[in-house]
Amino acid sequence: MFALKSLAERWPELTKEFDLERNAPLTPDKLRARSFKNVWWTSPLCGHSWRDSPHGRTLRTPRDCPFCDAGGGFVAREIAAEANLRNTALRGGPIVP
Ligand SMILES: [Zn+2]
Repeated sequence: MFALKSLAERWPELTKEFDLERNAPLTPDKLRARSFKNVWWTSPLCGHSWRDSPHGRTLRTPRDCPFCDAGGGFVAREIAAEANLRNTALRGGPIVP
């Protein structure tokens, strides 16, 4: 049987941004490398948290932190707004870039 590679196997560098706490009990070794499932990411560089799929993060032009990349073009403002709405609901306050 063909075994699909996990995110941890295929993109080990991405697992550093995988938010284990928020995605629990899901872990990068249980997730398919190109999964369309939206999971939480936290960038060690900027500290932002956002949701995206492993698929989106491994496109030819990979999607990165939507808050930092908002001026870079890839991210629709709707996505950032939606993420903010979710975070507002979850945490009781909007994310400040
Ligand atoms: Zn950021």
